[in-house]
Amino acid sequence: MLRRDFLYSLMAGSVWARFAQAQPGWAQAASGVFLERPLAGQPHQGKVLLAIQAHSDDIALESSGTVAKLIEEGYTGYLVRATNDDMGDAPGLGTPGTIGDNVLGNERDNAEVARVLGCRKHFDLDYSNHRMADVSLNEVISRLIFIIRLVKADTVVCWDPWAHDEENPDHYTVAKATEAACWMAGRDHDYPEQFAAGLAPKEVLDKYYFARRPEITRVVDISKQIDKKIEAIRANQAKGPGGHYGSHLRAELAKRHQSLPLLGDDDATADRNYIKEFLLGHERELGRQYGVEYAEAFHYIPPGAAGADLDPRIQKYVKEHAMPAK
Ligand SMILES: [Zn+2]
Repeated sequence: MLRRDFLYSLMAGSVWARFAQAQPGWAQAASGVFLERPLAGQPHQGKVLLAIQAHSDDIALESSGTVAKLIEEGYTGYLVRATNDDMGDAPGLGTPGTIGDNVLGNERDNAEVARVLGCRKHFDLDYSNHRMADVSLNEVISRLIFIIRLVKADTVVCWDPWAHDEENPDHYTVAKATEAACWMAGRDHDYPEQFAAGLAPKEVLDKYYFARRPEITRVVDISKQIDKKIEAIRANQAKGPGGHYGSHLRAELAKRHQSLPLLGDDDATADRNYIKEFLLGHERELGRQYGVEYAEAFHYIPPGAAGADLDPRIQKYVKEHAMPAK
């Protein structure tokens, strides 16, 4: 479960609009943060999205509306889970069980998250949960470079390597590895043996970073994708905090000869309505601030903002000043 309640109040004041650009589907709010609105058709056709998470519930809780939106708008999506979620429960949350039960339950849940969001495939790196601080950073970087080149990723969604108040080592380790991999994957001399295996350098163009206390530069309207977000959260049954809570609560009340209208007449409705009412308050409040129904917040790194080996100002200067040779 994320500590977002008090952190949330800090988000709106942390605004950074250094990379202001005018693009279709963007609208600049009074705060300077870009509001990414729904795009008509499939303008992202041909592009590849790599959604990278440490645990089976990270993307579901933090950014599944945006991942679903980008895939609906044409991206081919892939999901990476860095750990095997073996410590993947929390007191009072999810489905009680042993460490082995956690591995199997979260493995199944993660596959369901990938399916719900429309991902073509998912990769599990299977590092031990909460132990990624022990893992060689270069090993994680090289595995991610391989996947970026394999799927030819254009855009990533991941934890923010530069965020504050992160207490889970898996989150910041996978975020740091992702930041480095996005840059190194585009270079000719890093891991050249991968080229002998048929891969080619691939630069990642832009990044949507989410966090416990994000530095918000972009807010994405996910109103149209809210049902997919609910399904992604519902898929995390082993870990919670959504899963089957609604139907469990409904059953508990029934034992006491009570019922809640919110929970409806069947288990699936109870689960969905529970998630919508109790787990999406942040998305509703953020949406309200930006004049939409539901939204997600990101520290967005646009194309050319980081990792660019070529200074675009030089190309611009040459284009403007080049003359026919005498
Ligand atoms: Zn996590």
